[in-house]
Amino acid sequence: MADDERSPLESEIRRLIAAAGQMPVAEYMRLCLTDPQYGYYVTRDPLGAGGDFITAPEVSQMFGELIGVWMAAVWRQMGAPANVRIVELGPGRGTMMADALRAARVVKDFHDAVVLHLIEVSPRLQELQRQRLQAFGLQIAWHAALADVPGGPSIILANEFIDTLPVHQAVKRNDGWHQRVVGIGVGDKLTFGVGRDPWRQFEATLPPAVRQAPEDAIFEWRPDSIGLELGQRARTGGAALIIDYGHSKSGLGDTLQAVADHAFADPLAAPGQADLTAHVDFEALALSAESIGARCHGPLPLRDLLFNLGINERAARLKARATSEAAAEIELALARLTAPGKRGMGELFKALAIADRKLDPLPGFVALA
Ligand code: SAH
Repeated sequence: MADDERSPLESEIRRLIAAAGQMPVAEYMRLCLTDPQYGYYVTRDPLGAGGDFITAPEVSQMFGELIGVWMAAVWRQMGAPANVRIVELGPGRGTMMADALRAARVVKDFHDAVVLHLIEVSPRLQELQRQRLQAFGLQIAWHAALADVPGGPSIILANEFIDTLPVHQAVKRNDGWHQRVVGIGVGDKLTFGVGRDPWRQFEATLPPAVRQAPEDAIFEWRPDSIGLELGQRARTGGAALIIDYGHSKSGLGDTLQAVADHAFADPLAAPGQADLTAHVDFEALALSAESIGARCHGPLPLRDLLFNLGINERAARLKARATSEAAAEIELALARLTAPGKRGMGELFKALAIADRKLDPLPGFVALA
């Protein structure tokens, strides 16, 4: 490929590799998604039919509405504090929060207690969130990171956020585990490779279930920091609800994937132009949150959480006053959110709550009788 056909970020990544050597996968992912100038999320609105992918809140208003009811119930369990920080990580277009706040408005004391804190890297999406949410008349603050949100009673939400956090990868070779990296390969193309020297003590840090890995196996992980931060905030009278795709148990496998224009793409083909994600390891996330004193509920398949929170009843109520065309759409959205396998989000997506130990049981995580 000629220099001038490359994306500006690819040229930058090649410069960095030429200067400093092969680049760890996590660093590559970080640049692709959040480079301040060329990062995927910084330069566009990726959501919806005209974008690259669709998320649960964009599928149906029912999703956000159930989250709103969940928040209000958790706030009551927290003792109905007069001020509660509702924090959302990566709110996208603000759709989930708008649906949630609308549904929770009936609980007037709750609505009056809310201050919104939104963590968003994209100026473009921040603007969409502002337009979407200002009608609620709430105080809203935007931050670059969760660490910037002041302490105090909080309910934290994250839908399809953790999967965008950079993931590290290691590859098993006959002399041990090596870092997986991005370098320049045959035909002068970006290519995956392995770091030269094995990591001596790496195997001992792995979850027991993956220690006997065959050669060429790949193990992925994210730093503990996000689980620790969520656990730290939740354990003193708060809760976090994390919804994302991933696995309930730590395991082996390369899940780094690129999506552009609603189809899978090569993660190295057009840095900064495609969404890059990797599955969430819910076992690892829960362990880090619990290690700091929070209690985890789940992970549950998303369908179970939505059924427990009453999505069937909600759909029936909406359908009862809808035209037959709209009723068919509600039915389709319900199937998309709850169907198992490849047909829907119901099974691949999981929900994990991280909460103060005093908030037990938590709505949605205990099956209703
Ligand atoms: N929750 C939304 C959007 C999911 S897409 C939905 O379900 O529709 C991921 C979101 O996280 C986007 O808003 C993106 O801009 C934001 N984001 C990604 N990485 C981020 C980071 N490191 N810091 C803050 N926001 C980030």
